[in-house]
Amino acid sequence: MNKTVIDDWYEVIRISDDIRLIREKYVAHWLRCNIWHLGGKNYDLLIDSGMGLRPLKQEIASLSEKPITVVSTHCHFDHIGGAHEFECRLGHRLEEALHREPNHENSGTAEFVRAETFLALPDNDFNYESYRVVPAPLTGYLDEGDVVDLGDRAFQVLHLPGHSPGSIALYEVKSKTLFSGDAIYDGELFDTVYHSDKVIYRESLQRLRELDIETVHGGHYGSFGQQRMHEIIDDYLAGRAVMGDANAWINIQMGK
Ligand SMILES: [Zn+2]
Repeated sequence: MNKTVIDDWYEVIRISDDIRLIREKYVAHWLRCNIWHLGGKNYDLLIDSGMGLRPLKQEIASLSEKPITVVSTHCHFDHIGGAHEFECRLGHRLEEALHREPNHENSGTAEFVRAETFLALPDNDFNYESYRVVPAPLTGYLDEGDVVDLGDRAFQVLHLPGHSPGSIALYEVKSKTLFSGDAIYDGELFDTVYHSDKVIYRESLQRLRELDIETVHGGHYGSFGQQRMHEIIDDYLAGRAVMGDANAWINIQMGK
């Protein structure tokens, strides 16, 4: 690959005093994961950790000195790649084995990691064909009804299977804010991963539609409000805005 090597891999966008969005600038926009850093009184949360292409912990050290707990919304490679850098790693028990032993098939890299995935390279030795997720076994489990309490703000865990069996979201009732991972984002929803379940996905989205949510911070693309959330869900339930064949979809994203 004849591409530039970039040191300055991440960008940090301040959303509010205690919410920051970290993104891998040189991962193609159609794959780039939203990494959410939430400042808390007792500890900070990192919701998802990107592809793990450059050190993430030192990036966050410049934002906060608090201990960090990583919550992985699900086990796909674009969300868990940096988790191994952190000691406390939470996710759903149903995907425990996939965090422990990610490979080319079970983490989703086979379909999405290709030369066009990268706008630049994270280091001189990087080769997309040898990209693998570093195993980061979960150190604790989160499931429906659990509460993640940072001391000054608390999030309910919602189990929203469908995109993957152990997809979870964090819902702060007080601010009506949802951190949704890939359960919902403002783009074509993806229900054809090897362990996706379309019937269960519909149920999860129907459930989300009934919740009092003002802001959704998704696993990809921009954040949105309740009205847009309803449109995205209604489109999906009507069979629109669904990502079908991944290869064909990627070609469309790249204008081919
Ligand atoms: Zn995913």
